[in-house]
Amino acid sequence: MVADVPVITNPTSFTRLLRNSVLALIIGGAIALAAYCKHSWDREVQEVRENLLVQSSFLATASQSFFDNVGNGLKPLGQLLYNKNILEDPEASRSYLEDFSDRYPEVVTIAVFAPDGRMLINTGAKPGQTLPDFRKDPPYLTNLLADMVNPSSYVIGQPEFGKVIKRWRFTIRRVMRNESGQPMFLMQAAIPLEKEGTFLHQLPVPPNSFIGLLRGDGLQQARWPAKEPSEIYGKPSEGPVAQTVRNNPNILSGYVEGESLWTDSKGFRAGSFTRLSRTDMYAYVSAPWSYVWQQWWIHNSAVLVVSVLFLLVTSLVAHRIWTREKLHRQELLAQARRDALTGLPNRAAAEEMIQFCIDMSHTLDRKFSLLFLDIDRFKDINDSLGHATGDRLLIKISELIKDSLNEEGMVSRLGGDEFLIVLPARDVDTAVDIAQRLIGVFRKPIRVGEHSLVATPSIGIAQFPEHGEDIDTLLKHADTAMYESKRQGRNAFSVYMDQLGEKVLERVELERMLRDALEQNLFKLHYQPVVDMTTGRIVGAEALLRWVRADGMIVMPMSFIGVAEESGLIHQIGEWVLHNALEQVKAWNDAGHNLWVSINISPRQFQDPNLVEKISSALDMIGVEPDQLGIEITETVAMLNPEASSRILGRLKEMGVRIAIDDFGTGYSSLSYLKRIPADKVKIDKSFVDGINLEVDDTAIVHTILALAEILDKKVIAEGVETEDQYNALHALNCQLAQGYWISRPIPPDDFTELLGRTLLNRAA
Ligand code: C2E
Ligand code: MG
Ligand code: MG
Repeated sequence: MVADVPVITNPTSFTRLLRNSVLALIIGGAIALAAYCKHSWDREVQEVRENLLVQSSFLATASQSFFDNVGNGLKPLGQLLYNKNILEDPEASRSYLEDFSDRYPEVVTIAVFAPDGRMLINTGAKPGQTLPDFRKDPPYLTNLLADMVNPSSYVIGQPEFGKVIKRWRFTIRRVMRNESGQPMFLMQAAIPLEKEGTFLHQLPVPPNSFIGLLRGDGLQQARWPAKEPSEIYGKPSEGPVAQTVRNNPNILSGYVEGESLWTDSKGFRAGSFTRLSRTDMYAYVSAPWSYVWQQWWIHNSAVLVVSVLFLLVTSLVAHRIWTREKLHRQELLAQARRDALTGLPNRAAAEEMIQFCIDMSHTLDRKFSLLFLDIDRFKDINDSLGHATGDRLLIKISELIKDSLNEEGMVSRLGGDEFLIVLPARDVDTAVDIAQRLIGVFRKPIRVGEHSLVATPSIGIAQFPEHGEDIDTLLKHADTAMYESKRQGRNAFSVYMDQLGEKVLERVELERMLRDALEQNLFKLHYQPVVDMTTGRIVGAEALLRWVRADGMIVMPMSFIGVAEESGLIHQIGEWVLHNALEQVKAWNDAGHNLWVSINISPRQFQDPNLVEKISSALDMIGVEPDQLGIEITETVAMLNPEASSRILGRLKEMGVRIAIDDFGTGYSSLSYLKRIPADKVKIDKSFVDGINLEVDDTAIVHTILALAEILDKKVIAEGVETEDQYNALHALNCQLAQGYWISRPIPPDDFTELLGRTLLNRAA
């Protein structure tokens, strides 16, 4: 259910550089390509135009020579017709006329007119067929009579629909004159316009080109192709060539661009035109823009395709590098957010997660909780078993927490032995359930190599928004609650309360005061006698620490040993206790008593690698026999690392120091360890003594401990004996030693000396 914290990755300078370079390459490439396209296009247009110009000039030359050819060829024909007396007998000349039109395939018919406009003969009409009389057609006649007197050697007529040949054609006319220059007759060669094989379409022009001849007066002389001649001929042209020529009457050649108005194939075209050398006429060729495009593509596609491919490949490669880099960056970021040892999210990731939860909670209006978990006395494990084992234990612990969370939250390692569990959308009740579950899970020893270690957690719980509305406050308060759990004796959980904050302050203050107490020698030892139940005599004393404050108030060890432990002050305090207790027991024994004194060794002290040396040198220095000193450790301490414990205890026992297992029955009693720990005594915890003769279970436990101790050859001290009944019951169960308020409370040394004196007196009496 726990979403991964969203990763925000900012591009590195490398990706930025890569991105900018690629962008620059693409933009630069695109600009260069565009410039190249523009340039090559202009060049292409120019090339097409020039080619068209060459074609139009070729067409102009060809047309001029065609006209000259026909026009001049009519001259000898005229001479022949004159000789054959055509005016008198037109039919006699028919074969000469047909010969002429055979020689010029473009010429289909030849007609001859008398000076008054009468048609004498037309090869298009059969002999005897009635010929049209153009004298009744005034416009035609006017034109004909005008041509009769035209001084040019020949006249090219505009296209017309031929009345005899019934198709569109234009004419070339030549007048035959007598010596005095009077017109004798006019020969007219008709050149059809639609007929294939005219001079126009033999030109090798681009596909879909228009080729044609435009008269100086703006009318089309000839045109190829011309699907609907009536649309084209006989009407003034408004096309681009006509416009250009009209605007520049003296122009000899040029380029045009534009739409050809009278064509069925609409569209923009490029064209060129050239004036005929001796005729007021222009030859032109125009090609569609699509042709220009095609040409351009044919000439440039290779460069274009290669450039585009290059840009594409470059972009692809850059994109790949880019995404790789992004992944790499994300990986790095993920690593930066992971704890190297356990693989769990680290503090940074935890804080991100908390921020994420805060944001989510704001939008969804929901609570969430934090569990701050600290492993009790982890430092001791590290100190005694080494960091490698400590690390392995941490890995095991991280797995343990993760497994028991069932995906309900995100566990992270904040550092050292501190873990943080974020429970999104879970309130404090769920957090408490989980804390209890975790404490249960930690009860089982954890195997690390050959060690079987018991690590207990202290847990602090804080809930958003009640216990803080920002990361720092939430973490601080969860941490405060965790310390409260420690204060309550560890292996516990606490939910943050406002007052806890004050307790933290107290803790810091307490630590400072303890330091002062140590410096100002404000610690005192009280002694509680231990009596032999068979003789009733005091055989030993347990030294119990007291802090006598400046105001005279006595502070009990339970209120400060925890802080002394956490702060490490316990080492100095412990040494002070050792020396004082030894000096005291020496004083008593020097005065003739035969006592041992036992001191309490706290877990942290027990991890001190120099513990054995410190004890033995103190014994030497003060001059106390080792068997007059006893040390008390709890089974939990011994169990923390049974191998090391039995090693240290073994050395102490060899020296002769007595060893007692304190508070027996309350910790993780393990028979096998009990057997291995070289203790002389077992101290039955007060809680069992309390229930003796009242609770069946407690009586049974005491009974069992006694039986067990007998088998293992250890003596038993019953702690916290408060009543005579308890004393008698224990005595009946064959318990050897007893300690408790019923015998004596822990008392200052002077009182103890007095007590000893009294018992001596008693004995003497
Ligand atoms: P402990 O070692 O189990 O000591 C026995 C505790 O039980 C003492 O509490 C003692 O006053 C109390 N007691 C003895 N007889 C009776 C009884 O009949 N009824 C009741 N109700 N209590 C009885 P005290 O002195 O407050 O010490 C508490 C604990 O503080 C000790 O438990 C020991 O674990 C620790 N401690 C005391 N002195 C030292 C010290 O010098 N160094 C270290 N490391 N720990 C110490
Ligand atoms: Mg004790
Ligand atoms: Mg005890």
